[in-house]
Amino acid sequence: MNFDWTDDEKLLRQSAYDFASRELSDGVVERDRDGGFSRGHWDACADFGLQGLMVPAAFGGGGHDLATAVAILEAVGRGALDNGLVFAVTAHAASCAGPIVEYGSDEQRARWLHGLADGSIVGATGITEPDSGSNALGLGTTATRDGDDWILAGGKTFVTNAPIADLFLIYARTGSSGFAALTCFLVPAGANGLEVGPSIEKMGLRTSPMAQVFLDGCRVPASAVLGGVGSGAMVFNQTMDLERLLVMAPAVGAMERVLQRCVTHAKERNTGSAPIGSHQAVAHAIADMELDLDGSRLLLYRAAWHRSRHGTATRESALAKLAVSEAYVRACRRAVQIFGGYGYMTEYELERELRDALATTLYVGTSEIQRNLIAGLRGLG
Ligand SMILES: Cc1cc2nc3c(=O)[nH]c(=O)nc-3n(C[C@H](O)[C@H](O)[C@H](O)COP(=O)(O)OP(=O)(O)OC[C@H]3O[C@@H](n4cnc5c(N)ncnc54)[C@H](O)[C@@H]3O)c2cc1C
Repeated sequence: MNFDWTDDEKLLRQSAYDFASRELSDGVVERDRDGGFSRGHWDACADFGLQGLMVPAAFGGGGHDLATAVAILEAVGRGALDNGLVFAVTAHAASCAGPIVEYGSDEQRARWLHGLADGSIVGATGITEPDSGSNALGLGTTATRDGDDWILAGGKTFVTNAPIADLFLIYARTGSSGFAALTCFLVPAGANGLEVGPSIEKMGLRTSPMAQVFLDGCRVPASAVLGGVGSGAMVFNQTMDLERLLVMAPAVGAMERVLQRCVTHAKERNTGSAPIGSHQAVAHAIADMELDLDGSRLLLYRAAWHRSRHGTATRESALAKLAVSEAYVRACRRAVQIFGGYGYMTEYELERELRDALATTLYVGTSEIQRNLIAGLRGLG
């Protein structure tokens, strides 16, 4: 086993961290307060190559393997204070560009990947519906054949990037039941019968835009089908493997950033005769954060390695997603406690971190769904 980074990897991680801390951290308090997405910061991410990290170089992307993409995104998460923006970018890269790279036809790849990689096309993915969240494969949006076309009817909710998206990857029902009942469709934002609802206000990740998407007689050609009719559940499962890792990588970086702030504060804050870090209660809380951080990071990279090597990593990515998200929330709770009243104040930027962190236990499958997956592979539940 080799835990060393090569010199090239070290350089990539350092430049990602430098970029993110320099360019993705200003004005976050205000944008968080106003629920504002920044196109300028999105474009900066695209210039750095984040939207196209895993898009092949032939289509204008970075062509990185999964472990390298995870390493870059971890460094971005450590440097960037704008967790919402980073989430918008990783959702675009993992759940929209990712499946087009893996399952797109030559024509679909040529049409969409350049723009998705350079950030000029914003991608969004609609799986969740008002009546199907955790039971994603029970979704009710239908796609019905009409000659060579398909007609989509239904609606999606909690769609990240919807208010700014140019392309929607929509999961719809094309069969009545069974594993082959779902199909993915690539639907441009201007398609007749597709409407985006008003922006949805959120507790955290407030700088990433979100809205409902309504599909009312939305006609798309046969060429909009991604990966073949009936392959939606397979695309979903494979994409979830990837998304669990790409979306969680910045959370590991954020955890390290929060831990470092706690160490500094514990050494500097003196409420009596000694710094608060001299109290065992505070020092042990920081030791537990360190333990959580290393455990999460190891599971994350093990899962990335496993998927690259074996093509799939359901168990490994579910374990990593569960560990990282729960540890990130614990780290932010501990940080607020270690900072005392200051931790609760907006100015100290830890209450925002906690609000952002809470979303990680919900999206890309809740913690309970990750536990179901893990236990299910042992024949339980
Ligand atoms: C910030 C954010 C961004 C998101 N972005 C997107 C997006 O871009 N596209 C998209 O399609 N969706 C998106 N979602 C939606 C997300 O995937 C769903 O919220 C999530 O899958 C949970 O579904 P739900 O909200 O309907 O909760 P429900 O499914 O109603 O679950 C409610 C509670 O019941 C538990 N529960 C439900 N079923 C089970 C079960 N079988 N076993 C044990 N416990 C269970 C859940 O764990 C949860 O605690 C986003 C959500 C958030 C918070």
